[in-house]
Amino acid sequence: MHDKSKLVIIGDGFAAAVTAIHLLRKGIAADSFTIIGPGPLGKGHAYGCESPSFRLNVREDLPIVFSDDPLHFARWAKTNIDDSEAKTSAGNFYRRADFGRYVSELVAAEVGFDQIQRIPSKVSRLNQVHDGLWRLDTTDGHCIHSERVIIATGNSPPTWPCAIKAGPGEHAASRLIENPWTGQYLAAIGAEEHVVLLGGGLTALDAIYALATQGHRGPITIVGPRSVFPPTQAQWTRQKQPNWPEKLSPAKLLRFMRQYLPSAPTTSSEWQCAWEELRPNLNTIWQQLTPHQRQILFKRLGWAWSLYRFRASPQTIKAYEQLRANHQVQFAVGRAKQVECSEGAIMVQLNNGQGIQADRIVNCTGVGRDVFLDRLVADSIALPDPLGHAVGVNTKLNVIKPNLQAWNNLWMLGPATMGSLGDVIAASAISKQAEELALQIASLD
Ligand SMILES: Cc1cc2nc3c(=O)[nH]c(=O)nc-3n(C[C@H](O)[C@H](O)[C@H](O)COP(=O)(O)OP(=O)(O)OC[C@H]3O[C@@H](n4cnc5c(N)ncnc54)[C@H](O)[C@@H]3O)c2cc1C
Repeated sequence: MHDKSKLVIIGDGFAAAVTAIHLLRKGIAADSFTIIGPGPLGKGHAYGCESPSFRLNVREDLPIVFSDDPLHFARWAKTNIDDSEAKTSAGNFYRRADFGRYVSELVAAEVGFDQIQRIPSKVSRLNQVHDGLWRLDTTDGHCIHSERVIIATGNSPPTWPCAIKAGPGEHAASRLIENPWTGQYLAAIGAEEHVVLLGGGLTALDAIYALATQGHRGPITIVGPRSVFPPTQAQWTRQKQPNWPEKLSPAKLLRFMRQYLPSAPTTSSEWQCAWEELRPNLNTIWQQLTPHQRQILFKRLGWAWSLYRFRASPQTIKAYEQLRANHQVQFAVGRAKQVECSEGAIMVQLNNGQGIQADRIVNCTGVGRDVFLDRLVADSIALPDPLGHAVGVNTKLNVIKPNLQAWNNLWMLGPATMGSLGDVIAASAISKQAEELALQIASLD
């Protein structure tokens, strides 16, 4: 099938949905654009989960869709979410599935929503044909032409960080969980099983919280380079603005951050207020660094950033602490080198020579590579970003060509813009990008 559209959004998650909302609100005709993505609009990998134990890692006033109405979700939640466990001393932390329902209902209620063309598929390739026109090929054989394209493909699911040696069959498929983000795998886990989590970030904490909720009694081993989890969210507010020094190098930046942060525990309000005061300026600083400086900073600060930036909901940390008090949770410091799965047993081999026998392995190693973006680089449509994680964009979200010029009809928003623009991972940062992009596109006609 061949089709034509004025504008195509590739992706169907949070970023695609908020972009659609803001485009419609800026007067872009609903029948002039198409959204291509395999699932229901607005949920994506982050909020399309099933497990009631997967919670937002931020309190209710922080996932913002409309900058002029930041408490829209908090108000909606009060009347539309029945969740007696959401309330904590650090704010309300709702289920991610409920936030997904909010976004889906929000976009579906927009005037014109039903006139947007939807193609339930994935784009495998994007190419220029002529006169600036894009050709998009989908995995199920669709071909669509469009004058403008917005890439919103988000966080690619995790892929195994090590070799997997497993024969075909049911046993390996249900025991080795490569992508745990939906939470579907949890129901099959027996209460006495030894569960090994590869990776020690928020996805591992999600697994621990869900296992605790379903009464898990067996051991849980976390394999990772450090035996530490992100801290719990405390109640924090930004009280002052840091007085950043001029001309920051990575070393100077790290020194300033270290001096600015108090010696209080990272779980305290005092420390988290200071940390959050530092964050708003970091994207501008990041964008001023050279690609080489960004690589140095990412290497030196990357792990600490992931640890303290993505703090966990208090409910999640409470569940972890309960299991730890029961001596059910232990860390195995190292990296997985190989997983072997045969009918009777699973064995994880670490790079330090340690071997761990398990009943189930859950891959919690985080975002995988986006093959669609890699293809754009391979096809010389786009330049890789300074970290080599995705494709590069400028501050107006235009994708950068290999000759360093920017495409004027190809944009990207969402977490994949991190290497170019800094910390654009949270829902509120993505909404801001969507609002600005919609304004920009509306001004083109
Ligand atoms: C597990 C998880 C939990 C998170 N929790 C929080 C949280 O609590 N709070 C917070 O602020 N942020 C959270 N985030 C951060 C997250 O980046 C953003 O909040 C936001 O959901 C990202 O939306 P997105 O649409 O860019 O990406 P995604 O949610 O990844 O959605 C992208 C969608 O595009 C589709 N897609 C991918 N490739 C193609 C293609 N080639 N063609 C067509 N469609 C394609 C995918 O199938 C997917 O549905 C979380 C992220 C993850 C992964």
